[in-house]
Amino acid sequence: MDTAQLDAAGREERAARARSLVERMAAERIAAIALTFVDTAGITRAKGVPLAAFEHAAAWGVGATPVFDAFGVDDSIAATTVANPTGDLRLLPDLDRLVALAAQPGWAWAPADRWTQEGGPHPGCARLLAARTVDRLADAGLTARAAFEVEWVVYRAADGEPEPAATGPAYGMTRLVELSDYGVDLLRALAAEGVDVRQFHPEYTPSQFELSVAPEPPVAAADTAVLVRTTIRAVAARHGLAVSFAPSVADPGVGNGGHLHVSLDRDGRNVFSGGDGRFGLTPEAEAFTAGILDRLPALLAVGAPSVASYLRLLPSHWAGAYACWGRENREAAVRLVTGSHGEETTAANVEVKCFDQAANPYLVIAGVLAAGLAGLDEGDTLPEPVHADPAGLPDDERARLGVERLPTDLATAVAAFEAEPALTGAFGPALTETLLAVRRAEADTFAGRTAAEIIAATRWRW
Ligand code: GLU
Ligand code: MG
Repeated sequence: MDTAQLDAAGREERAARARSLVERMAAERIAAIALTFVDTAGITRAKGVPLAAFEHAAAWGVGATPVFDAFGVDDSIAATTVANPTGDLRLLPDLDRLVALAAQPGWAWAPADRWTQEGGPHPGCARLLAARTVDRLADAGLTARAAFEVEWVVYRAADGEPEPAATGPAYGMTRLVELSDYGVDLLRALAAEGVDVRQFHPEYTPSQFELSVAPEPPVAAADTAVLVRTTIRAVAARHGLAVSFAPSVADPGVGNGGHLHVSLDRDGRNVFSGGDGRFGLTPEAEAFTAGILDRLPALLAVGAPSVASYLRLLPSHWAGAYACWGRENREAAVRLVTGSHGEETTAANVEVKCFDQAANPYLVIAGVLAAGLAGLDEGDTLPEPVHADPAGLPDDERARLGVERLPTDLATAVAAFEAEPALTGAFGPALTETLLAVRRAEADTFAGRTAAEIIAATRWRW
């Protein structure tokens, strides 16, 4: 959406579109629409409007305080100069993404952009930032496609210590039997919502599941991540179950990742295949990937943004704890996926594995694309690929390959972000300030707390 759409003619056009959407929703017995945005701490915040108020909301937006930008994972509010209690913003629903929520009968949902009362883009709006970063890629002649993987753990909704709902083995068919109705209701709900699910499977950790979706334009991929998680939670609630997307759910244990897949097209051709570089990479795909790899410590402040993230980001936990890349290497933070022979042109992409779902997916899109763009600007190249678990390599071999452990705590990642001009420049001063303030406040809040305490405090937050 560009600013022109917020002039009088643009508002009238949005109102007219909303009127026809309201008619359709009334026929589908929709009574309320949830407008969501994701805050700096990765929490999806919402405002609901009744059907009768949707037309006005579409044209003029719904009020929201800018102080949401400074909210922490525990709903505390970090001190900043930009996200203060005065002033007001407007949440404008994306009318192209309005969808009936299949597991919340009577509700529809639309992701929202945040605008100022004066009709300009709010500098702290993560979704608009993601869209602007996609535009920068377009200026370079490139179109990105992206997809977020979702992992979660299903519990019996119980007081006290949460009890895993499925007891079968990792990747076991047993789990699909144990939660058979839940699984099929989830897939039906997502299909009804137009989500193109590619795979749903039991994961490693007790009662953990994973779902992957088809690639989409990057902002749509972030929207889908919000919709999929909302649906997973809503279907679970209808089955008397509760879900956790938190980075870490047990110590010790393998956590919930939020891996991001990205590919790039130039002139309708995937630049991650058919090139003369290693594994078919073109120079553009290599430079883009190298731009991301070089900036991973800083990107962690975006993609692994919680103190809890560092309980997950451990060597040999499939989380990608080392800054290296490799073809189909699940212990490399950056995994090159080439696809099967014959389908490389559609399947080849790069997967960033070190991220989790405490992250705001719009900020992840903005950060990763900005890092890739910086790599393209610099004509960056990749080091030697790594074909083994870096944790198992002798120290001298790791040193020879230049493979370093990623930050092991939030404060180190935040310092790297602050020192990375490609990211602070893309995010702008206001968003940079709030991001740093929210992360540092969280690090202070949890300083000295045990892993078990951090897990208990964050399990149900995202
Ligand atoms: N659960 C792992 C993580 O924390 C990922 C497992 C996988 O490779 O899918 O990222
Ligand atoms: Mg997985």
